[in-house]
Amino acid sequence: MSKSFDVIVIGGGPGGYVAAIRAAQLGFNTACIDEWKNEKGAPALGGTCTNIGCIPSKALLQSSEHFEHAGHHFADHGIGLSDLRIDVAKMLGRKNTVVKQNNDGILYLFKKNKVTFFHGRGSFVKAGPSTGSGQARGYEIKVAGAAEETITGKHIILATGSNPRALPGAAFDEENILSNDGALRIPSVPKTLGLVGSGVIGLEMGSVWRRLGSEVTVLEALPTFLGAVDDQIAKEAQKAFVKQGLKIELGVTVGEVRSTKKGLSVAYTTAKGEAKTLEVDKLIVSIGRVPNTIGLNPDAVGLKLDERGAIVVDDDCKTNLPNVWAVGDVVRGPMLAHKAEEEAVAVAERIAGQHGHVNFNTVPWVIYTSPEIAWVGQTEQQLKAAGRAYKAGTFPFMANGRARALGDTTGMVKFLADAKTDEILGVHIVGPYASELISEAVVAMEFKASAEDIARICHAHPSLSEATKEAALAVDKRTLNF
Ligand code: FAD
Repeated sequence: MSKSFDVIVIGGGPGGYVAAIRAAQLGFNTACIDEWKNEKGAPALGGTCTNIGCIPSKALLQSSEHFEHAGHHFADHGIGLSDLRIDVAKMLGRKNTVVKQNNDGILYLFKKNKVTFFHGRGSFVKAGPSTGSGQARGYEIKVAGAAEETITGKHIILATGSNPRALPGAAFDEENILSNDGALRIPSVPKTLGLVGSGVIGLEMGSVWRRLGSEVTVLEALPTFLGAVDDQIAKEAQKAFVKQGLKIELGVTVGEVRSTKKGLSVAYTTAKGEAKTLEVDKLIVSIGRVPNTIGLNPDAVGLKLDERGAIVVDDDCKTNLPNVWAVGDVVRGPMLAHKAEEEAVAVAERIAGQHGHVNFNTVPWVIYTSPEIAWVGQTEQQLKAAGRAYKAGTFPFMANGRARALGDTTGMVKFLADAKTDEILGVHIVGPYASELISEAVVAMEFKASAEDIARICHAHPSLSEATKEAALAVDKRTLNF
């Protein structure tokens, strides 16, 4: 007889493993199926995020930032270094260790929460058999791993993630034409690096290799830099990146990518219509991600996908099939690990009859470049387009004591608040530790705080968070330190 579960989760990334843990916490007999393998063929839970996404990219960003500081900023502190070198193999080894710690951490959490883990590919076989209650029909799921078996579940949560989108006619070889996967394991610093796409992932990957010495050129199809970011913040960031040596070409159309003796040649047309060629050693292509349902066999049960290949879900992450749910990158909405996790918790709670909820208005965004960029809520251009009356307040890190002491005064905090009620509508940060500072804004917006609320809260001195308070004060034109 096949093993049966209350909940089967397919996918063990941030959406899947968190769904499994929360379902188990709520008392469900829960299984999670994930097919990711490390180089030894062993399970590597955590999905894209842990293996070739959030975690390894931050490990490399940290290493490369240390290198840049040692090379360019230590001298300001009176610290002298000679013979500064980067041991790329060691840096990549450290990154792999960080990844493994996270993989193992999730396995431990499964044991702790009594989640049954299957290593292999999960795919639909058919709906049924009936569970007897007449309500939950249940589904048969095939697990194809070292062995093959079929298990049944009353509820199925799909969290199969996404894959990188390739340039037409330039498939990823992960040697020269790199997705995020290859970009995280380049064995030596390329002299020249091209980057197609200046989104979050591209900019982070470009930053790593630029800091280590690559000459990086970004080719971006859109006419504006970081179109999703508040205009003022994006301009400030662009200025900083250009100053660091990043070459950015906007509004380009990328054509043929050809292998050459030395590397690659990328044909493109500039915004002004000029035909140009970029010669590079390596090319990172970061032009978005495609929802992944490969191997899930959605047709066996009639699971509905949209034209992008995403699983169609309603606001509650319900699919078109009874008791089948989907979360994370494989459904609509921002492709962010924390969004996947919030949906995962909400779905497990809905299965338990609770009222799980995800507030998409307060999902924070972070780009871990230097300066970091982080935001929550609406941008100034969105408020203008919506005709919403608002007040804006900004405060530069240049006027913040902690930022001066850190030696990193780039950027600002910007508040946008409703013109009448003063409710915070958006907070945008470019500067040091923006990724950490944004949490205060998320909490404030979740509690529907006004700018005045933040302005009246005592913030530790000296701290970067004082810039947040000051930007809130700036909404009412009464900064104290600027
Ligand atoms: P995934 O993490 O993709 O997990 C899906 C899992 O399902 C995988 O393990 C896959 O092997 C498995 N799977 C798929 N199909 C099957 C099947 N049929 N059977 C069994 N297993 C299957 N987001 C952030 O929030 N912050 C960041 O800093 C950040 N940095 C990123 C950096 C990079 C370079 C990249 C590429 C992404 C980054 N992201 C970041 C995005 C983040 O990684 C994704 O949003 C997140 O991983 C989505 O989680 P998920 O659970 O939906 O899918």
